[in-house]
Amino acid sequence: MALSGVEIFKLLPKTNCKKCGQPTCLAFAMKLAQRQATLDLCPDVSEEAKQKLGEASAPPVRPITLGSGDKAVKMGEETVLFRHDKKFVNPCVFALEVKDTLSEADIAAFCNQVVDSEMDRVGQKLRVNAIMISNESGDAAKLEAAAKTVAAKAAGVPVIINTTNAQAAETAVKLFADKKPLLFGANASNLEAMAAVAKSNKASLGISAASLEELSELTEKAKGFGVEDLVLDSGARKAKDMIEHNTLVRRAAIKKNFKPLGFPVISFAQRGDSLLEALVASVCIAKYSSIVVLSSIEKWKNLALFTLRQNIYTDPQVPMQVEQKIYNIGDPKADAPLFVTTNFSLTYFIVSGEIENSKVSCRLAVMDSEGLSVLTAWAAGKFTATKIAAFIQESGIDKEMATKELIIPGYVAILSGSIEEKLPGWKITVGPREANAIPAFLKSRA
Ligand code: SF4
Repeated sequence: MALSGVEIFKLLPKTNCKKCGQPTCLAFAMKLAQRQATLDLCPDVSEEAKQKLGEASAPPVRPITLGSGDKAVKMGEETVLFRHDKKFVNPCVFALEVKDTLSEADIAAFCNQVVDSEMDRVGQKLRVNAIMISNESGDAAKLEAAAKTVAAKAAGVPVIINTTNAQAAETAVKLFADKKPLLFGANASNLEAMAAVAKSNKASLGISAASLEELSELTEKAKGFGVEDLVLDSGARKAKDMIEHNTLVRRAAIKKNFKPLGFPVISFAQRGDSLLEALVASVCIAKYSSIVVLSSIEKWKNLALFTLRQNIYTDPQVPMQVEQKIYNIGDPKADAPLFVTTNFSLTYFIVSGEIENSKVSCRLAVMDSEGLSVLTAWAAGKFTATKIAAFIQESGIDKEMATKELIIPGYVAILSGSIEEKLPGWKITVGPREANAIPAFLKSRA
């Protein structure tokens, strides 16, 4: 069971030395209990307390990495049932299934689709993250050949080897031994052999069972064989069963701290009908799957699933933000107009999009307003004349400009006088209230 803040406090040094960044040991204990701090921040904690607290502060869903390098994905580490309590941590992985019965050319084509799946949405790179190579043929040589094609055509993409044959698994997994693959296909009858292959190739192990009871027994056995990084398959294939099983697994891990089920979950959404597949996958995204296996990745489906995943895995308490800086749009010269706005992602993308539409090269000064839109930030005192003036002055952008003119959003026209006072030598121009009026505004100045 997770320890309460007071129970944690009893194990801390109680010197209130503040080295952890908190004013007191009690405050630090509360942060630990809420999983908002880690124990290593206290340098004076005893070894005994470290052991007790280390176990208690470990995330209820074990963190597991799939793949290596810049395309590696982290799974698990979740601490809540509902995203309004605290954000979900690691977005689920989309894996495209490639069967070893396909021709080499078809496998290569699937690989290309995965590699080309990346898209940019509100500043984040979204993609299909992994390839599952399934031993549909039952032939070890075909699995190995398919794995070789994937290794060559989709280098760097995390891989899942799907087979129940430990010998076939060995030759295929070996190709990705230094890249943290997932070996999927362990069950009650092959667990020891599959665990040995996973262990010797530093792979995670995916375990299937006919029930959650059997699954929890198998995970304990796998740990006994020396494999700690596990992925769970409860055997659910219908959407209704997936919701039920995934919820029971997550609840057991989070509410009961039940370690045998404290692992990421894999779900199989493949359907003959792509529209139905997208629907099933959306259920998996919403309800706790860490890996969602797909049979195809058409662009329309990617857009829908990426968007849903991105929204489920953003923190509802923290608005999406872009970095505070001055962005060049087009190729702005010394006489290019300078706009200022806030760093709410949506505001940035709408304003920068309209400037691009105008075909006039501009600079866009994006000020940190903690992710609030213009009017909200102004009302909250985060987009004030003083702050705007300080930001523009500190940026040093005036050195690159022929005329010191700043265009402010029409919604904060009221600030123009006071910004002018605080920015001597600058002309403050009130721009449009709505971003879609920017092209006409810029045209009128030409
Ligand atoms: S560093 Fe440790 S001893 Fe010091 S205040 Fe924080 S918890 Fe207490």
